Amino acid sequence: MKLVVTGGAGFIGSAVVRQAVAQGHQVVNLDALTYAACLDNVASVADAENYSFVEADIRDRAAMDAVFAEHAPDAVMHLAAESHVDRSIDGPGTFIDTNITGTYTLLEAARAWWVRAGRPEGFRFHHISTDEVFGSLGPDPETDGQFTEDTPYDPRSPYSASKAASDHLVRAWHETYGLPVVLTNCSNNYGPYHFPEKLVPVVILNALAGKPIPVYGAGENVRDWLYVEDHADALLTVLQKGGLGRSYNIGGENEVRNIDLIGMICAILDEKRPGDRPYAEQISFVTDRPGHDMRYAIDPTRIREELGWRPSVTLQQGLEKTVQWYLDNESWWRALQDRAGVGERLGVSAVS
Ligand code: NAD
Repeated sequence: MKLVVTGGAGFIGSAVVRQAVAQGHQVVNLDALTYAACLDNVASVADAENYSFVEADIRDRAAMDAVFAEHAPDAVMHLAAESHVDRSIDGPGTFIDTNITGTYTLLEAARAWWVRAGRPEGFRFHHISTDEVFGSLGPDPETDGQFTEDTPYDPRSPYSASKAASDHLVRAWHETYGLPVVLTNCSNNYGPYHFPEKLVPVVILNALAGKPIPVYGAGENVRDWLYVEDHADALLTVLQKGGLGRSYNIGGENEVRNIDLIGMICAILDEKRPGDRPYAEQISFVTDRPGHDMRYAIDPTRIREELGWRPSVTLQQGLEKTVQWYLDNESWWRALQDRAGVGERLGVSAVS
């Protein structure tokens, strides 16, 4: 397939790009190269014949029209977004611009091209979103349930509200204009190339640096964790096999309290890079984030039963791979830590 992947220089987008190129798809990586981007994430495929890069902003309609006209894609995988919850609390404006207006602009460019091309049936606009659009669940997995694709939207942060709005736009473009879309909502990702301001890298890097490991509140918040390579695999599966106009929840089947996740990472580091004392002694509780959702959990029944997809690694296996990757790739994360505006954020981590 000819794929345009937006946000392909980011964390998840780059995993999608690497896998899609390896599978032989023709991949155009479209990215505006914001602070969160890193072209080193796709260095392993940069010279491949079936890969190209376009620096462009999804809010720029003329640039989007030009990409569709030049590449005539079979599908768009739309991952470009502002993605950091804490940044959305400090400055929601760019989240509204990129996640809502940017998605609208991309949808309109896709629709115009799709109409001009004679409404090809196989075309897909795949919108990649988050389980945070569903709001917060109660703490008990037995009685408080999980998110299904039918759970009503109830976003609670500027980030999740902007993603919810973009999901609604994508569904509306399907219902109103017939644009062939598919949507996915997934849980928290972790893995190689995760930007150093996010929770899992913060824990690893602060532990190694001998700094406090910050934990919001009492660390009781529960998240489901999905290994990024599994997410990329799921996205390529949904793109090729998912039902038209349907949405799929993607989870890692790994529901865990933040404090327990951090304990797992510290224990892996104790094994791989033993220090003078257990890394868990560096854990430091900080004031909770406003509107911090209690629990997210994914019911993966639809993707498992309709598409036969399941994650390939357990949380323990994925975390071991991730910790090893950060130990082996110090030059990658040091370069990003040195970027302006990132270093001072490392003391207080986001959970997604
Ligand atoms: P990221 O912040 O690592 O990467 C986002 C990429 O989008 C960056 O390369 C950035 O340069 C690019 N971008 C931002 N604004 C742009 C614009 N206006 N035009 C073009 N490119 C632009 O994000 P991520 O963690 O890889 O998340 C990717 C997608 O997956 C997002 O849509 C996010 O909402 C969703 N998601 C993420 C998670 C998670 O745990 N990280 C979970 C569920 C869903």
